[in-house]
Amino acid sequence: MLAKLRDICLGFWSLIVGLGVSRKTGFESAVTEQYPDAVFNRPFKRHGVPPRQVGDCYRGILALRWDWEYEIPTCIACRNCERVCPSKCISGIESEGRGKLRRATAFNIDLFQCCFCGLCVEACPVEGKAIIHTRDFETVSRRRDSLVVDFEWLHERGRRYHPRPEGVAVKPWPPPEATRRSRQGAESGRDQ
Ligand code: SF4
Ligand code: SF4
Repeated sequence: MLAKLRDICLGFWSLIVGLGVSRKTGFESAVTEQYPDAVFNRPFKRHGVPPRQVGDCYRGILALRWDWEYEIPTCIACRNCERVCPSKCISGIESEGRGKLRRATAFNIDLFQCCFCGLCVEACPVEGKAIIHTRDFETVSRRRDSLVVDFEWLHERGRRYHPRPEGVAVKPWPPPEATRRSRQGAESGRDQ
């Protein structure tokens, strides 16, 4: 009889403790999130640039750097990155202009295939690199083909990491001296 009474008391006490915990946690803010719906692109939405969750040398999602001086892409479409990529995930590079005036107009990266090895960045001959690693690491998607990112996407992300520096005046593109030189070269070629 006594044992039964003790069990009833213990059960009742457990119920009281359990309800107390539920009451306490029920009014606290949630510490979990519905991933990926709640957090996809969250760092950008909340902060503009992701908080420094990883080191500067972290090889995250790739991006293309924008040339703020001339308001053009920095990529000269040399295709070095495409050649060295072990995953063959860089494709569709197109360009316009010739010689030093050549700039990329199309560029795709399949982030699903990319192994973030960094070889493309190393091989890029552009000063300060045209292709860069960001510190982003979330590549969540429900469709594989949505991870093939294009020229616009890559530049948009690049601009977040290399925003327009203050006080930089935009220069005309192509630079007048380059246009003059290329015209002189064409004329001397015609004379020969
Ligand atoms: S990081 Fe490596 S795998 Fe990814 S695009 Fe560059 S070279 Fe290819
Ligand atoms: S990102 Fe760099 S290596 Fe790749 S095509 Fe452009 S300039 Fe060449």
